[in-house]
Amino acid sequence: MVNRHIRLSRSIVGQQEAEAVSRLLIEDGYLGMGKEVKAFEEDIAQFLHVPRARVICVNSGTAALHLAVQAIAKPGDKILVQSLTFLSSFQAISAAGAIPIACEVDKETLTLDIEDAKRRLTHDTCAVMPVHYASNPGRLDDIYEFASKNKLRVIEDAAHAFGCTYHKRAIGTFGDIACFSFDGIKNITSGEGGAVISSDEGVQRQTRDARLLGVQKDTEKRFSGERSWEFEVTHQGYRYHMSNIFAAIGRVQLSRFEREFKPKRIEIARRYRSNFSQLKDVKLLESNLQEIVPHIFPIRVLQGKRDSLRNFLADKGIESGVHYKPNHLLSFYGAQKGSLPVTEGLYEELLTLPLHPGLTDDDVEYIIEIVREYFSQK
Ligand SMILES: *Cc1c(COP(=O)(O)O)cnc(C)c1O
Repeated sequence: MVNRHIRLSRSIVGQQEAEAVSRLLIEDGYLGMGKEVKAFEEDIAQFLHVPRARVICVNSGTAALHLAVQAIAKPGDKILVQSLTFLSSFQAISAAGAIPIACEVDKETLTLDIEDAKRRLTHDTCAVMPVHYASNPGRLDDIYEFASKNKLRVIEDAAHAFGCTYHKRAIGTFGDIACFSFDGIKNITSGEGGAVISSDEGVQRQTRDARLLGVQKDTEKRFSGERSWEFEVTHQGYRYHMSNIFAAIGRVQLSRFEREFKPKRIEIARRYRSNFSQLKDVKLLESNLQEIVPHIFPIRVLQGKRDSLRNFLADKGIESGVHYKPNHLLSFYGAQKGSLPVTEGLYEELLTLPLHPGLTDDDVEYIIEIVREYFSQK
């Protein structure tokens, strides 16, 4: 018991991924963006049942968000986004010269509080960025209705929500723009990576070019094994394309998702929920495990007990996390302490428990036992 160490999260990769990478290194020898990336985009399109032109892979989820913002916003435009999100959402907005407007979250789901977002709408708001926190899309219908009434674009930060559905439709298959992350610990990983998914052809074209320094139609060339020696550029671009190495890992991961990762993540979350729902000082978030594949398992710890529970777990070899430090508290985003009381209150309560498909039944049992032990004493 004493020597246990349970990680909050980790990449679940092994022999199959190693073989795919090895095949690419040894047999293919083309490590840039080529056939393997094209195949990964096709695999994702097939998985989502969308036309393949809609899927654009890049080298991180942050890059996906940045390119999505750049495709729809002008410098100085405002984008409504919940403060309680990974720094990436905010950095992607400011990287494109747009201004993130920090909003509150709904206390039950920690997704965007749409009523609060409505109050922050101004004439120069161009978009809303709902974050599917802990894989929950929240009140997405209401967000789309609000957006269409006010002619706003919607960029879904779906970094947590790969493989999830909303009213039985897969995230990324409806709506405006969705961005996934395939970083090391997400629902599937490509090592690092991400994807922009959109049915808007303008967004597709811009994103495809912008991932390769803005070189027009370079994607088509690279996918057929050529290079652009003569080219035209009309927009700012970046080196955000995905490499074949990442894509080789991602393709294996995608093939393991339905049978392996998805049921395991759901099962762990179910066990936590059934064991913690009665604890007086714990509040579980609303979460529909019929539709979501949970990326993280945050709980709210009430009565000021969060830090002492966190220390108790650490003493027993269990890592935990805090998702996330609200962005409006950061100097770069104005250090506006006191401006979002709901979010700031939640920030004191949040604790994320380990959730990844590498946890054994025994690990989960142990975590449950230790959490219960803490609350039986205090
Ligand atoms: C992981 C994550 C991102 C960014 O993805 P990277 O691939 O790590 O760049 C963006 N938003 C949220 C909410 C995330 O959790």
